[in-house]
Amino acid sequence: MPRNGPSRRTFLNAAAAGATIATLGVGSASAARSTEDGASSLRRGSFAVLEDTEYETTLRYVDSVKPGPTALVVGGIHGDERAGYAAADAMAAHLAVDAGRVVVIPKANAPAVEAGSREGPNGDLNRQFPVGETPSTEPARTLWEEVRAIEPEIVVDLHETVGLYEREPSGVGQAVFYTGEDESLEEAETAERAVEPVNDFFVPEPASQHEFRTDVSTELVSDPSGLFVTKTAEDLAVPSFLVETYDDLPLPVRVNMHWLVVEELLSLAGLVE
Ligand SMILES: [Zn+2]
Repeated sequence: MPRNGPSRRTFLNAAAAGATIATLGVGSASAARSTEDGASSLRRGSFAVLEDTEYETTLRYVDSVKPGPTALVVGGIHGDERAGYAAADAMAAHLAVDAGRVVVIPKANAPAVEAGSREGPNGDLNRQFPVGETPSTEPARTLWEEVRAIEPEIVVDLHETVGLYEREPSGVGQAVFYTGEDESLEEAETAERAVEPVNDFFVPEPASQHEFRTDVSTELVSDPSGLFVTKTAEDLAVPSFLVETYDDLPLPVRVNMHWLVVEELLSLAGLVE
């Protein structure tokens, strides 16, 4: 398995210490940007990953410049699931982070996002991350190297579903999936708490088919295999969540729902007050 070079870690640590991108000597200085956020010490920046390939995309970060965990938020693994990458981009631009840093890869499957299709040229990116093995395609391998270098302590992957519970077409419904084998996990409780604000705000009827539910992703683990969050949960041993919104709802509603779920997960992880 490819090992991470030190450059990204150096970059991220230096960013946390308040250095500017121009002093870091990594990546392309002309392509990378870092800005102070108003009067606060919040630092936002970005640089290209998967450079010089058709999968080139932008990694963005929001750094509180205070001690705390690193969170990774990924969108656009499926290119036709717009709310996920729209929410991820919005969070990179506007989220206030109180501790640690949030690293965002809004459009992880850039050519699929560009085409508005689920899959990219190399197929379904969310089937290319087998547990305990090297990712099965070159873009997945490169992305995984970036993810390992980020050293996330919580991972959130944003998706959308065409189905709902108890309705045709059937689907997983609006949900937060966590990875594990049983419901006694801390991740299960975290997922339960993470859906409370979004259900309170957007799903007034407790029995509504739009209710966000939580579930262990055992089914997702076994069939299909190769999910990104399964690999981060198993190979990096970090709490990993997959969020689904219903893509028949208006886009701004879906984006807001993603935001609320992610913000609550980040709050529970200690990054957001
Ligand atoms: Zn998806």
